[in-house]
Amino acid sequence: MIAERMKALVAGSSVIRAMFEEGKKMAQEVGAENVYDFSLGNPVTPAPAKVAESIGQILSSMDSMEVHGYMSNSGYPQVRAKIAASLNERFGLDLDEEAILMTVGAAGGLNVILKTIINPGDEVLTLTPYFGEYRNYVSNFDGVLVEVPAAAPSFQPDLAKLEAAVNERTKAMIINSPNNPTGVVYTEETIRGLCAMLERKEKELGTSIYLISDEPYRELAYDGVEVPYLTKYYHNAVVGYSFSKSLSLPGERIGYLVMPASLDDAQQIRAAANVANRILGFVNAPSLMQLVVGECLDEKTDLDFYDRNRKALTKGLSECGYTFTNPDGAFYLWMQAPGGDDKAFSQAAKKYHILVVPGSSFGYPGYVRIAYCVSPQTIAGSMAGFKALAEEYSL
Ligand code: PLP
Repeated sequence: MIAERMKALVAGSSVIRAMFEEGKKMAQEVGAENVYDFSLGNPVTPAPAKVAESIGQILSSMDSMEVHGYMSNSGYPQVRAKIAASLNERFGLDLDEEAILMTVGAAGGLNVILKTIINPGDEVLTLTPYFGEYRNYVSNFDGVLVEVPAAAPSFQPDLAKLEAAVNERTKAMIINSPNNPTGVVYTEETIRGLCAMLERKEKELGTSIYLISDEPYRELAYDGVEVPYLTKYYHNAVVGYSFSKSLSLPGERIGYLVMPASLDDAQQIRAAANVANRILGFVNAPSLMQLVVGECLDEKTDLDFYDRNRKALTKGLSECGYTFTNPDGAFYLWMQAPGGDDKAFSQAAKKYHILVVPGSSFGYPGYVRIAYCVSPQTIAGSMAGFKALAEEYSL
């Protein structure tokens, strides 16, 4: 018999994954080229050539035990030092290798930091719409996820609403910019306001409130938009980074946490995160991939590819009369569901073999998410269906 709490999790298991399966079934029926699957955030650009080159070079030049053996639970010191140096250079920081812990992607990093700081009943704030897994990650440690709506239509954080939600049980806040699912990048002004508010609340309540910045999309920002680096604005900021999207390596499960010396109880937090990485069963991040990303810190994904998709999609959809938030980053477009019912609209789209995810999956009904990490042909091919849908809804 499975555990009680797993029953509910299995029953409510990811709508996005279910859609992915539905897409595969549709492809068998009508042919893959006639299915316009915008449901999953799986990057389609190939990993930079340097990734394969580094794998070859590492395997041929290093001793097997050095590459495939256990190491410190926090990761290879030389890789952590390289990451710290790279962040210092890019963002004007002052990190050393002790601040970096190699993780099993952003998902692993979030679980490690939450295990490190959350007591049962502690509250973790997040903004809706949000990446639905945050609910599971917080409940893994018996924390309580507190959802605060972002300010539509900009989908920037609503500082007044956030401040009203902070209390003595607030242990952390998770933010994600560039954002999944809205594509919004939080402005420097927003970040300054948010950090000032958290600092004020910490003083008022006599507590520590850790701001966890979930950053798998950091490198995907268009038109030169800057993504502020959180540790420069707030002493209690922890950054969770991932190479899943920046190097198109989601299956390899590699990322890192940044825990600066400015954190309250920094030494204890770092030591506890090291233990959390081990006892959650990760033990350490994948060894070969740690070494590979250490060689590829200056490599970039094909941002122009996603930008061309972004432009084609926004142009096509606005010509059809849809309303959406113009995405500054990530590879998601957040669109108002015509008729206001996101589930009904997603269902109607399937008639045209278009798969989009209802906003309800992100805790924000009335909208749909369109993931444009797809081939340009998928976008071009989907437009007739989007047009027919727009006519159906009298846009
Ligand atoms: N956070 C957000 C907002 C995401 O969209 C994703 C993946 O899509 C993750 C975390 C998990 O990323 P990773 O594959 O690095 O674990």
